[in-house]
Amino acid sequence: MRMDKLLANMGFGTRKDVKKLMKSGSVHVNGEVVKEGKTHVDPDADMVTVFGEEVKYKPFVYLMMNKPQGVISATEDDEHETVIDLLLFEHAMYDPFPVGRLDKDTEGMLLITNDGQFSHQLMSPKKHVTKTYVADVRGEVTEEDVALFKEGVTLEDGYVTKPAHLVIIEQGPVSKIELTITEGKYHQVKRMFEAVEKKVLTLKRTKIGKLDLDQRLELGTYRELTDDEITLLL
Ligand code: URA
Repeated sequence: MRMDKLLANMGFGTRKDVKKLMKSGSVHVNGEVVKEGKTHVDPDADMVTVFGEEVKYKPFVYLMMNKPQGVISATEDDEHETVIDLLLFEHAMYDPFPVGRLDKDTEGMLLITNDGQFSHQLMSPKKHVTKTYVADVRGEVTEEDVALFKEGVTLEDGYVTKPAHLVIIEQGPVSKIELTITEGKYHQVKRMFEAVEKKVLTLKRTKIGKLDLDQRLELGTYRELTDDEITLLL
């Protein structure tokens, strides 16, 4: 891999910044100063240091975001801000993408990565990865709904949902619920409640598989996943 690409990928700035850094003589490969961006290095075998500190090349980035409302789960959009627009350059430069989608008005846990295999593992219907949501729902959610969701509800297009786990947190004219599903059909949670004549007013994803949304993340902020968290998800 070219040295300038590796350093740019590692967050040392644009190609131009990297060129300047290399010209300054601060970059060493196996103890030798390297000033040419086009020099080839083997990220697995060569030891690269910048200002005397070893830098380790990572091909992938794994992020957990607390998505706010009003932002689109896509890499680009002509009209609206996307979740990728919320990333710092040091993460955006990996060209990551969201793992699945949350609606524009849905908040909560969104994973963002450039690792296609990781994303596929989480998205594949065969893997049955659970997704947990907390919602305010207009209408009194009942034990009958709990039983129906467990059986599978028929959506307006005739699709019968897989068994889902519905927990009533607060019952009333506006109910608070937690719903865990193993699928990710378009507007699934909203459509499941429409099927029982109720309306989702607010929706937040709180968990994917065994991993909970980090409560310390403010809306619109994110952090890298730890190795243990990545393992927990797979
Ligand atoms: N179900 C929905 O209806 N919307 C989402 O954003 C996620 C799940």
